[in-house]
Amino acid sequence: MKLLLRSTSLVHAAHCENVLRAAGIRAEVRNTWLGGAAGDIPFQESAPQVWILDDAAEADAWAVLNAAANPPPGPRWQCAGCAEWHEAQFASCWRCGAHRD
Ligand SMILES: [Zn+2]
Repeated sequence: MKLLLRSTSLVHAAHCENVLRAAGIRAEVRNTWLGGAAGDIPFQESAPQVWILDDAAEADAWAVLNAAANPPPGPRWQCAGCAEWHEAQFASCWRCGAHRD
């Protein structure tokens, strides 16, 4: 087992666990109840922790979490004016200037 990360939020730690499990990486959250002791004991010891069960999966785990934190902007769209295709981040057509619906 390997400690992957500490989080200030139990919700965030649980989200990371869910993302990893959905990608087939066995993970679990530890320190789910020490948050109430934050301030009395060091953050390193009280913060929720996300662990992976297979040490060798660390690089894959980080890749999965980074991909989840930076999702692609969405599907491509086609201009209603000229039928040109555009990536999701563009709000208007470069060819004819029509705005995306
Ligand atoms: Zn167009």
